[in-house]
Amino acid sequence: MLLKDKITLVTGAGSGIGRAVANLFASEGAWVILLGRTQAKLEETSDQINAAGGRAVIAPLDLENGLDRIPELARALHERFGHLDVLVNNAGILGTLTPLENYESILWEQVFRINVTAPFFLTRELMPLLKKSPEASVINCSSSVAFKGRAFWGAYAATKAALVNMTETWAGEFSKRGVRFNTVNPGATATAMRAQAYPGEDPATLPAPQQVARVFLYLASHFSTDVRGQHLNARDWLTWHLQ
Ligand code: NDP
Repeated sequence: MLLKDKITLVTGAGSGIGRAVANLFASEGAWVILLGRTQAKLEETSDQINAAGGRAVIAPLDLENGLDRIPELARALHERFGHLDVLVNNAGILGTLTPLENYESILWEQVFRINVTAPFFLTRELMPLLKKSPEASVINCSSSVAFKGRAFWGAYAATKAALVNMTETWAGEFSKRGVRFNTVNPGATATAMRAQAYPGEDPATLPAPQQVARVFLYLASHFSTDVRGQHLNARDWLTWHLQ
């Protein structure tokens, strides 16, 4: 088991890629803290993990309006687990696909809050717990539009670029010791978000979240101990490592 008794936290664990990552981590022996907005969805993921003999706890938290509750979450995790080995900042929203000149200010700020500010606050507040792990790993979820802006992708593209940049800053500040920071670009994956961006697309033609989750497992495991400040592209990684 690659994550035996590791304490892991996955945001957006109630659906899509986050749910697949949570299930995979649990199947590899980890405790998984399931963080997300919708309690019922987290309970579904938790039920799946328990049914498979895994261990999970749910942490319902709205990463838009509940950021002030993160210190309370950190305290609760400290009391229950004492440390944190893996943090996956996966939760995100697409916002809307529209020309920048029409982008609404409120939506712009909402996308930034969930996609950038929340991963920053979570990482900062959970840092004391991460520092207690002998090999902590933080994995941030990027996107192809993080590396080159794309017309009509508005706030989403800008937030993913910011997340990539912030990951490099974190990685630079922890360059050779302790916590590792990397990003994963899942690439097109059959989830609700992808369907929102490409409503006409047949999801059967896309990789499933379960496939993409393998890259997150790699970055969470000791097999990537020397991988720091890197941006992994799931498609490339899966091609080279699993086929
Ligand atoms: P989904 O829409 O399926 O999942 C997004 C998750 O984020 C949901 O579980 C959602 O919870 C959670 N979330 C959204 N807003 C909040 C909030 N305010 N507070 C707490 N949780 C919230 O999308 P994906 O699985 O596709 O996306 C996962 C990550 O992968 C994202 O960061 C996305 O940008 C990235 N990505 C996805 C790609 C794809 O093709 N699918 C391609 C490139 C990147 P709830 O449902 O309860 O709101």
